[in-house]
Amino acid sequence: MKEKRVIEGICALCGKQRKLSFEHVPPRAAFNNTPISVQNHVHLTDQTSHLYGKEMRSNKGSGGYTLCEDCNNKTGVWYASDFADFVHQGMSIIRELKTPSRLIKGIYQIKPLNVLKQILTMFMSTDKSGYLRSKTDLIDFILHKEKTGLPTIYEVYLYSTLSTKYRMFGFSWIADEIMGWQKWSEINFKPFGYLLAEESGPAHEYMCNISKFGNFSYDERVFVELTTGYLHIDSEWIGTYK
Ligand SMILES: [Zn+2]
Repeated sequence: MKEKRVIEGICALCGKQRKLSFEHVPPRAAFNNTPISVQNHVHLTDQTSHLYGKEMRSNKGSGGYTLCEDCNNKTGVWYASDFADFVHQGMSIIRELKTPSRLIKGIYQIKPLNVLKQILTMFMSTDKSGYLRSKTDLIDFILHKEKTGLPTIYEVYLYSTLSTKYRMFGFSWIADEIMGWQKWSEINFKPFGYLLAEESGPAHEYMCNISKFGNFSYDERVFVELTTGYLHIDSEWIGTYK
């Protein structure tokens, strides 16, 4: 059956009022091709919403009508398959472990800049508050594929997880017991979780800082060794892991 829905709105990336298309978060080829139930911000915190306390079921997989066709196509062509390639390597590395370990060391052959920009696109797509859309330096970095250097106020962290409870938070202020207020965005989807921190630290000491992926050239393919903490997620709250 053909999709008949036409949804207009503000594109989460370019900020233009456009017809929106369904953006998979993560990309479909990154194990996101089956129906899924997800709780996002509105389901958890907005008590005035009819969605409060409910889950969202999506037959298309995880994602939403968030990007205009132009941004969806561009980022899809530039970054999505290189990100999916990275995720498939991550899944193989986890599956080859004989015993579960707290820190997982793996060697990946990837295009780091492309991977990082796909992760950032996912954060933009997931942020319902519009906060990230006001960050022109970040958007500029994503929408110019050759541009290198993640703007310095941000860090991107990676961890390993096989949890089937998902966090899809575009942006939140989180009160951390030790570090105080932290500006964090978090997405997890097996085999990885991703944290975007703005002038904030990592949400767990075992998270691997991948911000330097931003210093590679577009399409540059290299071997990188990453040590990622294996973290289990059993609650909605950013910063809590088992
Ligand atoms: Zn757009």
